[in-house]
Amino acid sequence: MSTVDRSGLQALSAEATTLLRTLDSVLESWGTDAGAASMIMPPLLPVESLARLDFYENFPHQALVVSPLDLAKREPGARPAHFDPDALLPASLGLPSAACFAVYLYHEGRALPGNTTVTVLGRCFRREEGYQDLRRLIGFHMREIVAMGTREFVQQHLDRFGARIADFITALDLPFRKEAATDPFYDRGGQRALLQRLSPVKHEFVVDDLAIASLNVHRNFFGERCDISLAGEPIFTSCVAFGLERWLSVLHKRYGSWPAATEAVRNTRGEVAA
Ligand code: ATP
Ligand code: ZN
Ligand code: MG
Repeated sequence: MSTVDRSGLQALSAEATTLLRTLDSVLESWGTDAGAASMIMPPLLPVESLARLDFYENFPHQALVVSPLDLAKREPGARPAHFDPDALLPASLGLPSAACFAVYLYHEGRALPGNTTVTVLGRCFRREEGYQDLRRLIGFHMREIVAMGTREFVQQHLDRFGARIADFITALDLPFRKEAATDPFYDRGGQRALLQRLSPVKHEFVVDDLAIASLNVHRNFFGERCDISLAGEPIFTSCVAFGLERWLSVLHKRYGSWPAATEAVRNTRGEVAA
């Protein structure tokens, strides 16, 4: 990791992969211990669905979409380095930028029997202004633990996991700060923007000037947009998100090797009173 890679595309070595899996199984177990269903979501989402969640309003600069080739425009044997838009069919699928969108879409139109927690490991994709090593990638792994239910339930979710993350990072001997951040999942205009200034909707755990985890509340935005209800009312949602490659980056720096970092995670596991 001596030269800086700016491609945004990184393979993980076998040892780094072991660390990612070890860390992810710890985080997944935090979710399942709290009653979360562990699920696998689709790798792509319809553009129409992401548009309904205002993704292209709020994060147009991050968006990446997928197009099939227009076979009528194909030049056999051409070995292209890119495809021009006119060689493509319309893009009706998007790459997700966060793992929780698929969870709200999965529950679309449902009445929940009670407060619900789901955990997913998503591969997320973002166009960024620049890329750097494992710290900022075009595609990365995001473990999320998502709460859906009453306002109180989704706030307790963040309190519980916020404390757990702080204990875990401390036990791993990584100096961190927790700070309020911007870039909410929903619209910046009018009433909602005002509400956001009054009470932050996003907190980040920052290590080495890098957010390795975030706590997000969305009030009942996704409940309304996806028509998900509890006792006849749109649900509230919150999510805890971990960018796994960023954890790898800070752990490697702290422990000096992938096996040493893996050992540290195995010995810690975040099994603190939560
Ligand atoms: P930043 O401010 O650093 O861009 P963010 O606010 O965009 O982060 P979130 O939207 O909260 O991040 O995403 C959840 C987590 O995913 C982040 O805390 C981080 O760990 C990780 N993450 C976000 N963008 C990237 C990226 N381009 N490459 C690798 N990990 C990322
Ligand atoms: Zn989320
Ligand atoms: Mg970002």
